[in-house]
Amino acid sequence: MQILDGKLVAQAVKDDLKKKVAALKQAGKKTPHLAAILVGNNGASETYVASKVKTCEEIGYASTLIRFEESVAEATLLKKIQELNDDTEVDGILVQLPLPGQISEEKVINTIVAEKDVDGFHPSNIGKMVQGQPAYIPATPYGILLLLEHYKIETKGKHAVVIGRSNIVGRPMSILLSQNSSTGNCTVTLCHSYTKNLKELCLQADIIVAALGKPEFLTADMVKEGAIVIDVGITRVEDKTKKKGYAIKGDVAYETVAPKCSYITPVPGGVGAMTIAALMQNTYQSVLRQYGG
Ligand code: NAD
Repeated sequence: MQILDGKLVAQAVKDDLKKKVAALKQAGKKTPHLAAILVGNNGASETYVASKVKTCEEIGYASTLIRFEESVAEATLLKKIQELNDDTEVDGILVQLPLPGQISEEKVINTIVAEKDVDGFHPSNIGKMVQGQPAYIPATPYGILLLLEHYKIETKGKHAVVIGRSNIVGRPMSILLSQNSSTGNCTVTLCHSYTKNLKELCLQADIIVAALGKPEFLTADMVKEGAIVIDVGITRVEDKTKKKGYAIKGDVAYETVAPKCSYITPVPGGVGAMTIAALMQNTYQSVLRQYGG
């Protein structure tokens, strides 16, 4: 069994970007600039946005963090996004999800101009991705592809089971794995909460991507020997023995599943780290597309 070390691969992606950004600066070109919007003070969202801003600093990007109260009106948020769309200094815009109930996530995603949609959630980017055209790929699936690529994992002809069909993880992942590409060419089964015989389907899988948000859902009896298991789940589970009062759990029962796998991602240190690296990669692409390399 080999661990797919997201931390290590993410560091390699960041180191590479750091060099590229230094070269851009030296050539008098634009410094990539990511603007992040955080609404309210949800603990997990705070952590994610803080990591994204910290990573920008690490690799030499400019970043702007814009915060709104939980009660912010939808119109106020949309106006701010429009301002960022029009701001030529800003190359990438992300609005941390989830958003409070008074705000339509759909409207927010549609308002971000597709050229700066570095999270890859805009319908225009999703449409292009489906057709295999150049587009921002949603950061989590993109991070997983980078990980598969780094470890030279052959996907061609394999049967992949993706558990979870969200627009940001499961569905795009299922499309990308089925594409005629070096990290695609799988036969894909997309499973969700209404799937029957999930265990039987998982037992047929060469690759399993677990993205449902149910701690330790995928157990050893659901995984065949030699499978590749990608754990996307991140759930905070109360744990009084931890300083923070919680532990982070993936969707895979790691201890018992790992011995059966050929490759597996840990949580933390797997997909989460890669998601941020992929976001940084998309932001760099935004600068290249707008201003040339
Ligand atoms: P979501 O809640 O939007 O979607 C969950 C999906 O899982 C749904 O499509 C649902 O049908 C399916 N599902 C739920 N219960 C199921 C069951 N018993 N059997 C089969 N399918 C089931 O979640 P999401 O936004 O896609 O996130 C999934 C998980 O991934 C969460 O834990 C989230 O925190 C995590 N996540 C991690 C990263 C990362 O960077 N590692 C990024 C995004 C999301």
